[in-house]
Amino acid sequence: MDLGIRGKRALVCASSKGLGRGCAEALAEAGVDLVMNARGADALEAAAADFRAKYQVGVTVVAGDITTEVGRAAVLAHGPFDILVTNAGGPPPGMWSDWAREDFIKALDANMLTPIALMQAVLPGMMAQGWGRVVNITSVSVKAPVPVLGLSNSARAGLTGFVAGTSRQVAGRGVTINNLLPGIHATDRAIALDAAVVKSRGISMEDAIAQRAATIPAGRYGTPAEFGATCAFLCSQAAGFIVGQNILLDGGATNLSL
Ligand code: NAP
Repeated sequence: MDLGIRGKRALVCASSKGLGRGCAEALAEAGVDLVMNARGADALEAAAADFRAKYQVGVTVVAGDITTEVGRAAVLAHGPFDILVTNAGGPPPGMWSDWAREDFIKALDANMLTPIALMQAVLPGMMAQGWGRVVNITSVSVKAPVPVLGLSNSARAGLTGFVAGTSRQVAGRGVTINNLLPGIHATDRAIALDAAVVKSRGISMEDAIAQRAATIPAGRYGTPAEFGATCAFLCSQAAGFIVGQNILLDGGATNLSL
């Protein structure tokens, strides 16, 4: 399927690995030129080199922490952008009693205020040109809060509320904003969570993965490629009527009737 976005320019945050990388690759495959970001320069440069070679698109890398003002200014200096994919690492798990104000501020900065700041920076240009696509990588926890992910639940609920209003305020100018909600996907983050289970329950990694996969009707973890393909579709010409949605990619794990 031709997504109709060849030659567009995208900023894909936190994209050297995992779901962000999956989104960057799917956009590159559709002919989109990229600005990619992550803190570690080596993996970022390796991903960029891979995409340049495979898809003959322009890829600029900006190493830096997207949750800081300096990191955001560095990527935004490479604008303007037709497409924005926001992403950052997720906050650590824990108990409700573990966290102090600073922990909440850090989570809010990473998973709520950073995507909001990036949207506020790029939306005026998109609206002026009458076309734009924004996809925020959030979490299944938006629909079904995960008890040990209190920091993530809190920050992502805030972002979801912002997008619900803002997406309706900009849709009339040809700009769509939607959120993608990953369930369990095979990335470093999922491996880290499995490793914690191995440690706490004294089981093998194979068993930890099999037990978690068994909670998913699809019987397996999702892949960054599947996730990226959905992201690229939301960024396509065909997706112009999809506005302000929270789209679950979880292999059926969350059973919502509506
Ligand atoms: P991942 O495999 O750990 O990859 C994270 C990517 O983001 C890496 O490229 C990392 O590179 C970059 N990154 C992290 N923090 C950054 C920062 N502050 N500034 C710039 N780049 C940063 O994670 P993932 O599984 O793809 O998860 C992506 C998001 O989806 C997270 O917010 C996660 O909580 C959420 N999520 C994931 C799952 C899942 O099953 N995978 C499920 C639900 C929600 P550097 O470390 O070099 O910066």
